Amino acid sequence: MPAAETTDVVVIGTGFGGSIPAYYLSAAGARVIMLERGPRLATADFTQDLRLDTYTRIVDLINGTGCAVVAGNCVGGGSVVYFAASLRAPSFVFERQGTLARRLWPAAITRRSLDKYYSRVERVLPVAQESWDEISYAGGLWAAACARAGHTCNPLPVAVDLRQCANCNWMLNGCTFGAKRSMLLNYLPAAETCATEIRPLHEVQSIAPATTSGYRYAVAYNQVDPSDYRIVTDSGTIEAKIVILAGGAMGTPVILQRSAQALGGVPAAVGRYFSPNGDRVTLGVFDEAKVRDLLGLERAPGVPYEGYAIGRPITTASYDYLDASLPEFSRFSLEQIYFPPIVNILAEDGVSPPGSGSTPSRSRPRRSAASTNRTRR
Ligand SMILES: Cc1cc2nc3c(=O)[nH]c(=O)nc-3n(C[C@H](O)[C@H](O)[C@H](O)COP(=O)(O)OP(=O)(O)OC[C@H]3O[C@@H](n4cnc5c(N)ncnc54)[C@H](O)[C@@H]3O)c2cc1C
Repeated sequence: MPAAETTDVVVIGTGFGGSIPAYYLSAAGARVIMLERGPRLATADFTQDLRLDTYTRIVDLINGTGCAVVAGNCVGGGSVVYFAASLRAPSFVFERQGTLARRLWPAAITRRSLDKYYSRVERVLPVAQESWDEISYAGGLWAAACARAGHTCNPLPVAVDLRQCANCNWMLNGCTFGAKRSMLLNYLPAAETCATEIRPLHEVQSIAPATTSGYRYAVAYNQVDPSDYRIVTDSGTIEAKIVILAGGAMGTPVILQRSAQALGGVPAAVGRYFSPNGDRVTLGVFDEAKVRDLLGLERAPGVPYEGYAIGRPITTASYDYLDASLPEFSRFSLEQIYFPPIVNILAEDGVSPPGSGSTPSRSRPRRSAASTNRTRR
């Protein structure tokens, strides 16, 4: 029987959670292999369309019971397909207590203890702070509405090179301009410089105890076909001293559950109690007359209503209602956010086509859904 392949560290997943430790461990001299079930695409490979065969090759769409999830499925993981709004979690998040009145996070992890790491990652990505001149019309409109209601509203920090951003509105498909600072542009190439090996289209199946002396875990994987992930083209096992499980909230529990027997059990909570990130998306249709009369905003004559949809395609402003003394689920922040063209199609479904006889509601924008407000709880 051939000897098993061995390495110091196997990292499962190449998103934020996998890329950063992979870089630091390999920079410190460890032999690191990263296994990623999705394909590896570069800036030039991304496409600006939502055809299923192009969009879904970099995302995983998971339809659960009462909860549907979109997650990254490519080298770089969520960092390739996300909105790049780069906020630090507020202190009270780390102080939360569960139903047993115990702190949910280890005592050593607080906002204060994490701040130096936030700063480091913000420097490396890098994260940019948008100025008011750089936010979209929709973001400005939202900020003006907040100001009118007596609330604060600020431009957000984003992991985007604002000089390179072409304002194309396709950032969820992977940035074709290299402006979105995904892991593909920083930690992953840095890790490869330190001899980390990234293996795309390698889907980890399970983890078991290693059989080779000096190694702890055996990671079993399948290699999948680039055009149909259901087809297994090969399989193998790597034994490692350390395994980092960074398959994301949807990927890691599956691996742990499959490995439970071999590893001597996993906590019953693994794979249960899912909660989405608490976003509630609200479609805002602004009354042009009120926008003019109450907010004092006006677009130049002749600028079409589509102008409303166009803006830097990232979250631009937020209003925080995050008072730590409020009970849980009462705290929220409001954000203006851009959603991709497919959301416009959904909204337009309810609009009668021109000439059909029914009167559309007053000043309904042709692309009304492009600017939505998101409530994050
Ligand atoms: C559309 C969208 C927009 C978002 N916008 C924002 C935003 O603006 N700001 C923000 O802070 N967050 C945002 N998020 C959330 C953010 O992207 C995630 O929190 C983050 O990516 C999680 O990082 P992670 O490393 O834990 O997992 P992921 O980034 O999901 O990486 C996990 C990786 O593991 C791989 N994997 C999974 N299972 C296996 C397996 N069995 N074998 C091998 N590989 C596997 C996956 O393919 C994936 O590449 C957004 C997410 C989405 C989907």
